[in-house]
Amino acid sequence: MTKILELQDVTKVFHIGSMISRLKITAVDHVSFHINSAEIFGLAGESGCGKSTIARMILGFEEPTSGKIIYRGKDGKPVAGKEVWRTAGVQAVFQNPFETFNPLRQVEHYFFEAVHNFRLASSHEEALARIDKALEAVGLSYKEIAGRYPSEFSGGQLQRVSIARSLLTEPSLLIADEPVSMVDASLRMSIMNLFRELIERFGVSVLYITHDLATAYYVCDRIAIMLRGNIVTMGDVEKVLVEPKHPYVELLRQCIPEADPRRRWTTKVQLAESEQEEYLRVGCKFAGRCPYVMERCKREAPRDVYVDGVLVKCFLYE
Ligand code: SF4
Repeated sequence: MTKILELQDVTKVFHIGSMISRLKITAVDHVSFHINSAEIFGLAGESGCGKSTIARMILGFEEPTSGKIIYRGKDGKPVAGKEVWRTAGVQAVFQNPFETFNPLRQVEHYFFEAVHNFRLASSHEEALARIDKALEAVGLSYKEIAGRYPSEFSGGQLQRVSIARSLLTEPSLLIADEPVSMVDASLRMSIMNLFRELIERFGVSVLYITHDLATAYYVCDRIAIMLRGNIVTMGDVEKVLVEPKHPYVELLRQCIPEADPRRRWTTKVQLAESEQEEYLRVGCKFAGRCPYVMERCKREAPRDVYVDGVLVKCFLYE
């Protein structure tokens, strides 16, 4: 399988506050993973775990403090201040389609603008054909969007329009950051199924970023679970979520609603924080809530080990 994107030991540190009282926050802490061609790779975790920072680094909005982001075998370091490969080959689908588009602008303008910026057509007819093809891929047509403003679409339709716009450049990777969280529950599955169709038709890969394990389970091939900037477990979605090895996933999966009768997890759990600072700095980042915590977990950080092909960062397996 071809690797489309690879993160090698990527760390992102933010410094917040004044020169006198500067706070150092490690949002992403030595993260490594790769995405294969034509697969949906999930990056899941609670709010603030670092997953959106990873998306921003892949899209070139933030620079890693250390480590490498490699796209199609090329290091994504800026070239003359521009992330060359990130302009067309990697496109984003954001959480709220109503924030993606200016409410006072007809959505078709965004399409013509992208065609112009990326020099995708040499005539108006060619541009129209390209736009129609992208819209057709998401079940729409140019006629259906022509002259319409964002408020004239439903959330689900507008997210399809947003996906169509990102397909104009024929990207090999879509970064989809919580793409269905603002869409009606009844339409979520249709957007999820659309990602799968895009893979089958165009061979595009998707990085699906979410806090919702039910949709991740439904759509992803492989998944990484993040906690406080770390990937704590990663592998085939079935093995990671259905046969969880990491205690954090055991806890999380009890929160998954019934997305599919075969995939039923019902008990609700509270994810209240009780970690203490010293654990977070030196030990396992789950030590404050882990039912299996040992003294060692508070003093040192567990290494990556592989259990049945699944990466697990936990002393229970060392
Ligand atoms: Fe729990 Fe220790 Fe494993 Fe962390 S390393 S998940 S605290 S058993």
